[in-house]
Amino acid sequence: MRNDILTPALNEKRHGLDWLVAQLEALNSIVDEATARRLLTETCLNGEDVDRYVEPRAGSYARRSVVRREAYEMLVLTWMPGQGSVAHDHSGSLCGLKVVRGTLTEQLYEAGPDGQVRASQASQWVSGQVTIDPGLVVHSLANPAGSAEMLVTLHIYSPPLPEVRRYAVAVEPPAEVFLRRAPSNAPTIVIIGGGFTGTMTLAHLLRETEKSSTPLRLVLIDRQPAVGEGIAYRTNDSRHLLNVPVEKMSAWPDRPDDFLNFARAGNPSIKPGDFLPRKLYGQYVRQSFLDIAKSSDGQVSVEMVRADATKLARASSSSGWVVETSGNCSFHAGVAIVTLGHRPPAEQFIRRWKGPRTRFIADPWSALVLSQIGPDECVLILGSGLTAVDALLTLDRNDRTAPLMVVSRHGLLPQEHAKEPKIAEDMSALVARWLDPTQQLKVRELVHSLRESVRTAADKGIDWRQVLDGLRPSITKIWERLSLVERGRFLRHVRPVWEVHRHRMAPAVAEKLAALRARKILDLTAGALVSAEADVDGIQVTLGCRRLSDLRRLRVQWVVNCTGPGIHYRRSTHSILRPLIEAGTICDDKLGLGLCTDADGRATDCDGKAHPDLLVAGTLRKSSLWESTAVPELRQQAAAVAKIALQALHFGPDHLG
Ligand SMILES: Cc1cc2nc3c(=O)[nH]c(=O)nc-3n(C[C@H](O)[C@H](O)[C@H](O)COP(=O)(O)OP(=O)(O)OC[C@H]3O[C@@H](n4cnc5c(N)ncnc54)[C@H](O)[C@@H]3O)c2cc1C
Repeated sequence: MRNDILTPALNEKRHGLDWLVAQLEALNSIVDEATARRLLTETCLNGEDVDRYVEPRAGSYARRSVVRREAYEMLVLTWMPGQGSVAHDHSGSLCGLKVVRGTLTEQLYEAGPDGQVRASQASQWVSGQVTIDPGLVVHSLANPAGSAEMLVTLHIYSPPLPEVRRYAVAVEPPAEVFLRRAPSNAPTIVIIGGGFTGTMTLAHLLRETEKSSTPLRLVLIDRQPAVGEGIAYRTNDSRHLLNVPVEKMSAWPDRPDDFLNFARAGNPSIKPGDFLPRKLYGQYVRQSFLDIAKSSDGQVSVEMVRADATKLARASSSSGWVVETSGNCSFHAGVAIVTLGHRPPAEQFIRRWKGPRTRFIADPWSALVLSQIGPDECVLILGSGLTAVDALLTLDRNDRTAPLMVVSRHGLLPQEHAKEPKIAEDMSALVARWLDPTQQLKVRELVHSLRESVRTAADKGIDWRQVLDGLRPSITKIWERLSLVERGRFLRHVRPVWEVHRHRMAPAVAEKLAALRARKILDLTAGALVSAEADVDGIQVTLGCRRLSDLRRLRVQWVVNCTGPGIHYRRSTHSILRPLIEAGTICDDKLGLGLCTDADGRATDCDGKAHPDLLVAGTLRKSSLWESTAVPELRQQAAAVAKIALQALHFGPDHLG
């Protein structure tokens, strides 16, 4: 329920910002709707209260943290004319908002069956007014372009915002395929995870069954509302660029120029070697799927379920699987496809952490979570891979004065892509030697001969990147030749160096980091976090440095975990898979890289027997393929897995119209 109440006339003693904070401190628990409304209504704010948090900023609106506790957080947001938020919700947190200065326009949205939202009612809130969202609303807020004044709003979130979840907004009505209802006995395919892999698997299923005369029910489950984005393309920050050039990022294996054409429709000057914003790629994936959905005019129906998949188990009939979700929904799947993608980041630091965790950002991919950090606040970033690079870009603004300290085991940042695209070297002779079945392949030999090849290439003026790119198509075959012991050696000794050369950053991103270093903002240390003692205002951290025997002690205001997706499977598994692994129904590989599958992606049990109706695609197949991370290989998997799922349901040419 939503309501607005005008601030009452001033009491004799003004209830300012300090009073509001004191009331919330005394409450020391989750704030309910009535309390939030009462407290915000009774609060009477003036310039003195909020001026130090007001931050007129070009580009996007500014968020400044006032206070952050376990039960609630308070922020001041500054909106210049023309600035606004995207459609979002508050992941179930209560949001109490008071307009301090200016006029706020709020647009509400309603969820549609295609996973998109459509605009419904709009309202305006003027200075002094209060509005409360108990945690159910999808809205966008703005200071309209025509407004003559700055807008300042005060927000209470309780519990503190776990994540601002962004929605895709549609203007057209949903396609027919989302409105059809399949008969109750229709064969069903459930896809768990709607990132790139899950969404493109669904797109291929729709393409394969475009004219199907037989009913088929397709269900896609994802906890995130904006389908197709997954972790990688969820960002709203235009400085987060793809690390693969546009010409190699088609979502379709058989239409190589598809993304290039999509991007050029918006900007004809884009060149094939350009590195584009990742948020554009998320829009492209979604559009690719929606275009296919529009042309599906057979008997297929699609359900987009926005929920957490909480359980996957064999159906009691022993045919197919039962998938349960938050909100008590249950689906019987003839075939289940697991495209859960990246594992949650491992919480390995928590053992070394004392005190409140309010200033520890566990998941830097959560939208807007970094925007509350002020330019004068010192930040410690754990990890120095591409996730850390994202965080550095978000935290870097021209007005940043405080250092951004980065610590990682080896202190290595990702290498940079070549400024101009170069042709991959022909590495077939070396690969043939490595794949020789009469020889046992050793990691030591791999590293030695690769170094040798890079040196020889450099003598001929050939860049090391061309050598690595020449190996890329054969990496899975090389991985398959390594014994378990050798794979373990690779993970322990070679992986960190391999990753920074293999997963490179766009040249424009490298330039930004160089500028940060030149401004003495970026400070990179090879070492590890030894301990962290937090109080409400900051954290006293101790770092063990690789090259110095001394410990380094410093005080920071925030610690951000940028160690990337969980690396070791047993320490960070998708919780939905854990019971199946424990029961031996499915199996994780001995090195903890992912799930065991047969060559086509069917999950295998602890005896190595494949389940014909449980398919795996995406990063969970890293154990058998190693290269199972980026779009060029995932688009192939999505196409292949869709075909296998239809075969498993005996959906042959007769059904496909
Ligand atoms: C920051 C970053 C940048 C990258 N940049 C590039 C790039 O430029 N080019 C490139 O080719 N590759 C890039 N990658 C690699 C990326 O992994 C792939 O391109 C691709 O996005 C992986 O998609 P996915 O669907 O397999 O996994 P994910 O993107 O992880 O998607 C999995 C989905 O499953 C959902 N999910 C998980 N658990 C549950 C549950 N229990 N219930 C419901 N839903 C659940 C998640 O919400 C998520 O949407 C990047 C990766 C990252 C992390």
